Amino acid sequence: MRKPIIAGNWKMNKNYDEAVEFIKAVADKVPSSDKVETAICAPALYLRSLVEHQGENLRIGAQNMHFEANGAFTGEIAPGMLKDLGVTYVILGHSERREMFNETDETVNKKTHAAFANGLVPIVCCGESLEERENGTTNQVVDSQIKRALEGLSLEQVKETVIAYEPIWAIGTGLTATNEQANETIGYIRSVVAREHGQEAADAIRIQYGGSVKPSTVAGLMAQPEIDGALVGGASLDVESFLGLLEF
Ligand code: PGA
Repeated sequence: MRKPIIAGNWKMNKNYDEAVEFIKAVADKVPSSDKVETAICAPALYLRSLVEHQGENLRIGAQNMHFEANGAFTGEIAPGMLKDLGVTYVILGHSERREMFNETDETVNKKTHAAFANGLVPIVCCGESLEERENGTTNQVVDSQIKRALEGLSLEQVKETVIAYEPIWAIGTGLTATNEQANETIGYIRSVVAREHGQEAADAIRIQYGGSVKPSTVAGLMAQPEIDGALVGGASLDVESFLGLLEF
């Protein structure tokens, strides 16, 4: 019932020519959006060019934005600026931004509201550290992250939100959560959405897994009942590998 969504997160990689070449190379090779939604979340500077190649089957996303509409925020990008360009998705609250750039649950919540106010679909990230996994507090961590990120959204907005569950210890490390671990925590996140926003929201919201997903591991993850897609860093940077992620 929920349509899978596979999104590449390029992070701070690729030069301009490489970015455009990549999008041109994959644009007509991605599967139909009837089957899977596909997106590339690229560095902000490239979005203006990449959206020219955006189509039904391949959407373009940003990796962050500010929540304010405009003002004295040197170096920041406003939600309306992304909207103007025709960007579809925006990743919010990635663990790298939480760790290195002071992103908090409160700013993620403000950004989630700002995304909807500007017609952008938020990909809201959550996930526990290795220490939290080992001391058994994973559920507590994702519970409070997701509860606070989605606070105050309407039912329709929650249904449209995409959540990315990314255990921090599995990002860029080659360590993937097992299919069962990922499915279990994503099932827990869905129960949090049900508790906070009702069963209809929980049944509709799409929850991706992220953390060292590769073409060889995507099918096993996607076969899990709770997992609705993947947010992929490293393996989204190469054309063949990215297209491989869409064959599950
Ligand atoms: P990875 O990154 O696939 O390189 O682990 C995932 C992410 O951080 O979104």
